[in-house]
Amino acid sequence: MTDSAYRDDRAHVFHSWSAQRALTPTVLAGGEGSWFWDGEGRRYLDFSSQLVNLNLGHQHPRVVAAIQEQAAKLCTVAPTFANDARSEAARLIAEVAPGDLSHVFFTNGGTEAVEHALRMARLTTGRHKILSAYRSYHGATAGAITLTGDPRRWGSEPSIPGVVRFFGPYPYRSAFHATTVREECDRALEHLEQVFTLEGPHTVAAVILETVVGTNGILVPPDGYLAGVRDLCDRYGALLICDEVMSGFGRCGEWFAADRWGVVPDLITFAKGVNSGYVPLGGVVLGPRVYEAFAERPYPGGLTYSGHPLACAAAVATIGAMRDEGVLERVRDLGSTLIGPRLAEIAARHPSVGDVRGLGFFWAIELVRDRDTREMLVPYNAAGADAAPMAELVAACKERGLWPFTHFNRVHVVPPCVTSEADLDTGLDILDEVLTLADRHYTG
Ligand code: PLP
Repeated sequence: MTDSAYRDDRAHVFHSWSAQRALTPTVLAGGEGSWFWDGEGRRYLDFSSQLVNLNLGHQHPRVVAAIQEQAAKLCTVAPTFANDARSEAARLIAEVAPGDLSHVFFTNGGTEAVEHALRMARLTTGRHKILSAYRSYHGATAGAITLTGDPRRWGSEPSIPGVVRFFGPYPYRSAFHATTVREECDRALEHLEQVFTLEGPHTVAAVILETVVGTNGILVPPDGYLAGVRDLCDRYGALLICDEVMSGFGRCGEWFAADRWGVVPDLITFAKGVNSGYVPLGGVVLGPRVYEAFAERPYPGGLTYSGHPLACAAAVATIGAMRDEGVLERVRDLGSTLIGPRLAEIAARHPSVGDVRGLGFFWAIELVRDRDTREMLVPYNAAGADAAPMAELVAACKERGLWPFTHFNRVHVVPPCVTSEADLDTGLDILDEVLTLADRHYTG
């Protein structure tokens, strides 16, 4: 079974973001909770939550049962109908959404959610420009990849028109020469205001940002930043779109990370954790301004699988399980009492750790060759031989049974939100051990 899975994969599966010929994918044969295993029975502790979506871990019984029950009842329904699974999922998502956000447009995943948020913002405001951040990822379809502020965009250029990029706050590598977090916050807001001014505020439909930047570094905004962006949007009549595809549904210890700062966006995009990825699902949560724009005129967009019953049943069960099991509280608690403090200890022991940052179950370890110059362990967008120090680290983790998440010069600590304290310790012990490999490249 494993052999044929591997053989057929190599013969017929075309994988994402990869040069195909050199790939040697691990066959994932099964999983439970925070662990999965390959065909030879090698077990891995998943510190990547697959693709930072498996918030409830593998095979959560309540979510599996909900999918099975829904499959036995009704597998699919066209978007024009009302359906109990979709209605309940929408009601629950509206319940946990901040402020007056009350309606949900369902998609199959994150990129489609972003695509529709972009369209909604342009049509609602009658303006065309969207401001998006460098060091961001918003998806791989035409609009979302244009909004993306990382190298994955480059291969899809030239891009859709009307996207203007700005720098968000990143105190460790400040684009503003800030020396304190407060200064970084103020200067990032001044910079964004300048971008509005220079672009012509009347042309800007929306600002989109990841509430907490995910793949590009777990960049937690300084207190006051999100509220400042909200103010700028209000002042200039633009919408605020918070992309919570990665940061939402428990990852930051909140339903949506924006809750942490009490900010209410006009649109929220979500996917991944909404149902732990058991069945593809994403969507846009709409506030009144956008909803009202389409109350009397048709919204020009739709999807055959908008609000697919299997996916929505999984979302209903996921939200129910998160509530009943106190997942958000646990994530907040263990993030600040276990993961954060242990990462601080690890940073103190390893010179190659330049910075650790995060919240909840959403952390990054940034690796450097020199703490003073902050030279990255591997260069931005490194590949091949340049990326070897990170590849070594990944291999060493896997040899020890830990499946890590890495990006450029960073290791992210993003385990399922249900990972036990013992397993968190096990994974962090392994990271502590393998970081000695990174220390060997330290030249500071
Ligand atoms: N937005 C963010 C913040 C993401 O992290 C991702 C995926 O990682 C996406 C959008 C795209 O989601 P999907 O891969 O489901 O299309």
